[in-house]
Amino acid sequence: MFKIVHQDGKARVGRLQTAHGTVETPFFMPVASKASVKAMSGSDIEDLGYQSLISNSFILSLSPGIDVVENIGGIHKFMHFNNTIFTDSGGFQVLSKDFLLKKSDKGVYFKDKSGKKSLYTPELVVENQLRLASDVAMTLDDVAHFGLGGKDYVDAIKRTHAWAKRSKQAHDELKESYNSKQLLFGICQGGIREEYRRFSTHKINEMDFDGVALGGLVVGESRKELLESIKIAVDSFDQEKIKYLMGLGSPSDIVQAVGEGVDCFDSIYPTANARHGSILTKTGRYMIKKIAYKHDKGPLEEGCTCSTCTHYSKSYLHHLLRTHELLGYKLATIHNLHFMNQLLNNIRTAIKEGRYEIFKNEFLEAYFSGKEAKEFSSQIQRKYQEKEEQQQAKYLLTHQNSSSKK
Ligand SMILES: [Zn+2]
Repeated sequence: MFKIVHQDGKARVGRLQTAHGTVETPFFMPVASKASVKAMSGSDIEDLGYQSLISNSFILSLSPGIDVVENIGGIHKFMHFNNTIFTDSGGFQVLSKDFLLKKSDKGVYFKDKSGKKSLYTPELVVENQLRLASDVAMTLDDVAHFGLGGKDYVDAIKRTHAWAKRSKQAHDELKESYNSKQLLFGICQGGIREEYRRFSTHKINEMDFDGVALGGLVVGESRKELLESIKIAVDSFDQEKIKYLMGLGSPSDIVQAVGEGVDCFDSIYPTANARHGSILTKTGRYMIKKIAYKHDKGPLEEGCTCSTCTHYSKSYLHHLLRTHELLGYKLATIHNLHFMNQLLNNIRTAIKEGRYEIFKNEFLEAYFSGKEAKEFSSQIQRKYQEKEEQQQAKYLLTHQNSSSKK
């Protein structure tokens, strides 16, 4: 369960207790949709100091199948990660054009392994996550897509609420039979429209979930709209609840969202950036593949204590990533994830010492000061995410189609 231990303005430090330990908030989770943070083992993630990561129950249900993970003894054992594991419901993925056939109040019809249609219901989603034995499960939500207007938008929000209620009921009923201490978080929708966001926040809040999540953001809205929506949602939720902003991962966005009272984040941002050769530093990000770094003997970031910066030069990383050597992906990922973990450590220390506002302003000033400190816009980040999901979906469908023909 969740307890706030320090408060500094709206920013706070808290403790989330799960079946696999305590996670100090605010925290950031690397994404392991297929039970793997790309290029990294579970132990690698623990060694970097991460208390938690997030996987995706929908993606896992496609491959290897929930039964495979369950038979091995749950997701912790399967991927050898002993700290807290969140699982997302996969609402965002199942409703994408790659999978969605039709949605109704009952659930979502999607193309399954063999290309035949399967039904994904709020109850099934909850049971899948209990079978995976994750520590924190998420409800199935009907993501009200950015730009979707009028009746469709309101219908998606209302359906999210109905599904949240069914999820909670199913979780309450099933938890005991799985002998589980799993927590369940509800997700609010409402896009960037103030009245919708308030309405959805209010509805999810009154269902009394273990935690609450802000869904349907970081999907193409401007930074100003994003920050406004965060403020509205965070202010309308009960303050003692842990608040999770799904899909937000750029350092500058996180620093600002913590200032509004958000406790928990996840994103492919640091890992996807690493694999593209985009290196995070205190003065913004830069592209290591640029020719300027070919002979650079220095580390990725001066003063960084990660194992990559301790042992290797920019010149080596430049070479590895330009020649698509697998080690390059791992070494760059280690640095970017170390950077994020350090950032969150610094955030928590600043809150405990009552100087968060100063920390925030200093961080943002430095972050945007670098020569190449051109922050990814939300749109570009989104594009990366979509590209990755498309590749993932394509892989799964091709792979499954070919194996079913055998
Ligand atoms: Zn480093």
